Amino acid sequence: MNYKSTRDNTVSVSSAQAIAQGISTDGGLFIPETIPALTMADLQEIAGMNYVDAAQKVLGYFLTDYTAEEIADCAKGAYIGTFDDDQPAPLAKIGDKAYSLELWHGPTCAFKDLALQILPYLLTKAAKKTADGETKVILVATSGDTGKAALEGFADVEGVKILVFYPSDGVSAMQKLQMTTQKGNNVGVCAIHGNFDDAQTGVKQIFTDKEKAAALKVGNMAFSSANSINWGRLVPQIIYYIYSYATLLREGVLNQGEIMNVVVPTGNFGNILAAYYAKQMGVPVGKLICASNQNNILTDFIRTGTYDRNRDFYTTLSPSMDILISSNLERLLYHLTDGNAAQVKVWMEELSATGKYTVDETTRQKIADLFYGGCADDTKTKAAIARQFAKNGYLADPHTGVALDVYETYVAETGDDTVTVIASTASPFKFSKGVLEAVGEAADGDEFALCEALSARTGYAIPKSIAALKGATPRFTDICEKQDMWQQVEKMLGL
Ligand SMILES: *Cc1c(COP(=O)(O)O)cnc(C)c1O
Repeated sequence: MNYKSTRDNTVSVSSAQAIAQGISTDGGLFIPETIPALTMADLQEIAGMNYVDAAQKVLGYFLTDYTAEEIADCAKGAYIGTFDDDQPAPLAKIGDKAYSLELWHGPTCAFKDLALQILPYLLTKAAKKTADGETKVILVATSGDTGKAALEGFADVEGVKILVFYPSDGVSAMQKLQMTTQKGNNVGVCAIHGNFDDAQTGVKQIFTDKEKAAALKVGNMAFSSANSINWGRLVPQIIYYIYSYATLLREGVLNQGEIMNVVVPTGNFGNILAAYYAKQMGVPVGKLICASNQNNILTDFIRTGTYDRNRDFYTTLSPSMDILISSNLERLLYHLTDGNAAQVKVWMEELSATGKYTVDETTRQKIADLFYGGCADDTKTKAAIARQFAKNGYLADPHTGVALDVYETYVAETGDDTVTVIASTASPFKFSKGVLEAVGEAADGDEFALCEALSARTGYAIPKSIAALKGATPRFTDICEKQDMWQQVEKMLGL
């Protein structure tokens, strides 16, 4: 199966090429030319598999130029022995009809690990297949979690260098410490004066700048991406939605063909897009419930069809969702317009020129049928964390808290009592201060004092990888202006 660009239907590359390159040269994102179909028999078969086997089956549909052996290598390397549970994406029952899909049992305690533990395997194999022998230079813009997960995944991987940019005031103290203390000889981390959108825009500009690509080529290097603009990030995320459905089948919670709803706390629209792909493949998913924090641009978009980033940007308790340009929406628009790349290109150009675009009525209606959009500010988020904890002692981080609040609102508004899977995207210990406040405790002291207080209050254990950071000294202290990101790249690569 080949991949096209959302902005140019004449583009056709293999999956290895799409993963190695990250983004199409026209600035569009790679999308599969067809969406593979799963039958009920496939879902039943997956219900009998462990996660690693299920991952191989799902990856096999999309990565048709990888051999079965290569895919097995990737899945085993990524998911065996790396998560604190032999089940990388367990489901916890948290309500009558509600299940928390815990995606934070990996080395960096956020859902990004599910994709970024496997991407290095996919990418190094892709680089060999495309036979360019080039060193891949991975630039990452992060709102906090991608950066650390990518650093952890790519540290000391041969043939790769990685440089992460994060907004200096836009990540939690623990997220910052996780990144700035990263080990490895091929890694770099730099703060920028600006927000996540500035970092993401800067990285995309560098990626698509032909002169900069030429400068790298001289040293036998080429850019690639570990952000969710890279197809290699999205495809591993489809696995856990399929696997959740299969698990609920196996446990008898769902009957064959019965639908489940999905709630996803959303920023760049990657994780929820993966759920959309699972639905398009044939998993009986009902509503895709898109939960935003106070940066509720997606709520407005789903409700009105107008995407308008000309609005205030808020720094919230859920920093990984403090985003106003949700890159992966471009992929959804491509699919919903039946592959109208010319139209998608116009909308994306309008977005970069005016900060705004409005989709046509047919597309708006399709979005309204598929999705429900809701949002929760910090006050509502904390209240939702507190309610859940009081109800059954289940502790959620603020991103998951946003999802819990939006889920409750959705049920109250619609009366829809479908079995629902709520993506739980981070460990509460990455955001101890907000979570402690939510459960009614004073939150003073350094990050580790806060973690200990949270553990004492809730009985939850501090994840090992977080406890291990205590006393670690930051290696990376650079901070740059948003227009100077390229200089940082030059410095790291010695150009
Ligand atoms: C990245 C992230 C999100 C948002 O996911 P997208 O794929 O960007 O929509 C939500 N929660 C946490 C904890 C994250 O790290």
